[in-house]
Amino acid sequence: MPGLAIVLLSLSACQSEEVLSRQSFVFGTLVEVKIRTSDRDQAIDAVDTLFSRFDQLHTDWHAWKLGDMTATSAKLSQDEWFTPAASITPVLEYSQQLYRDSRGLFNPAMGSLIALWGFHADTLPDKPPAETAIDSILRNLPGMDDIEFNNGRVRGHHPHIIIDAGGMAKGYAVDTGTELLRKHGINNALLNAGGDLCGIGNRGDRAWRVGIRHPNGQGVLASIDLSDGECVFTSGDYERGYDYENRHYHHIIDPRTGYPANGAVSVTVLHPDGARADAASTALLVAGVDGWQDIARSMKVDKVLLVDHQGRLHMTAGMQKRVVIRDNAAQEIIIAPQV
Ligand code: AMP
Ligand code: MG
Repeated sequence: MPGLAIVLLSLSACQSEEVLSRQSFVFGTLVEVKIRTSDRDQAIDAVDTLFSRFDQLHTDWHAWKLGDMTATSAKLSQDEWFTPAASITPVLEYSQQLYRDSRGLFNPAMGSLIALWGFHADTLPDKPPAETAIDSILRNLPGMDDIEFNNGRVRGHHPHIIIDAGGMAKGYAVDTGTELLRKHGINNALLNAGGDLCGIGNRGDRAWRVGIRHPNGQGVLASIDLSDGECVFTSGDYERGYDYENRHYHHIIDPRTGYPANGAVSVTVLHPDGARADAASTALLVAGVDGWQDIARSMKVDKVLLVDHQGRLHMTAGMQKRVVIRDNAAQEIIIAPQV
């Protein structure tokens, strides 16, 4: 009875399946990998390789601790052709694309401004910088178009370029991670970098289900079932910042004003490209409640959820189809069907 043999075989394969979970602290956050597998050794091997790659990328891409990225920034300010380390050039090239798509709102070349606000340090300052210092950087703000590429070589055309890839590095890393897991034969996994996630395959009985944190700190705002290869990235004004004289100064800076963006509380983007989802969540937080729809279109992301300062949810029709909002989580829901 060949039919029965096949049924028994697949049953035993199911029974030996497990969801293996591993965590590591990297990119300044807790990264958790879940793998559904029937081959534990293969999964452990894949996760070990993944975490050592992440550790390396964390060092390579760090915006202010000495490494390949800081070395690249130093050379970019010298107006000469050079070849950056291998891990850097693809990130720079893609950042330039995302910068253009975001019409400059996602600007990883303005590390000098982010550093001025005190975010290039493990310990945050206790007060914001002087207005004159902000103005002087803003008058001649570097952008990603100040970088020229030619066959793997790069050249900077601005004396003050400092690359801060923090707005998309996690996304780029998680994309690298899912590719690495697939190469190791992993077909079902969830990679969670501090609430920013990409899924491969499914959990077995159902899709990988992910929660979106409520920006008010009170539990979960919504949940999404991920399709194979999808990622969810959130940027929020509550993530990193400091208070001074009853005002909150956070880590996402509006390149138009030189000040922390104040047009939205959080933005979540669902997209198969983790780096794009990451950059877009940052750019749309800058664009704010008035400008996000235009920038979402130009960034080619159609599944977006924005929480404004009144607690209202704004979302695209594409996101509305995919998200389940928790009862009583929102004051009001506004759909933007044209994105
Ligand atoms: P995310 O949490 O992905 O929104 O990234 C926030 C990080 O991106 C900050 O900590 C900064 O390092 C960097 N950043 C802040 N403002 C911008 C901006 N307008 N464009 C690009 N990167 C930014
Ligand atoms: Mg981001």
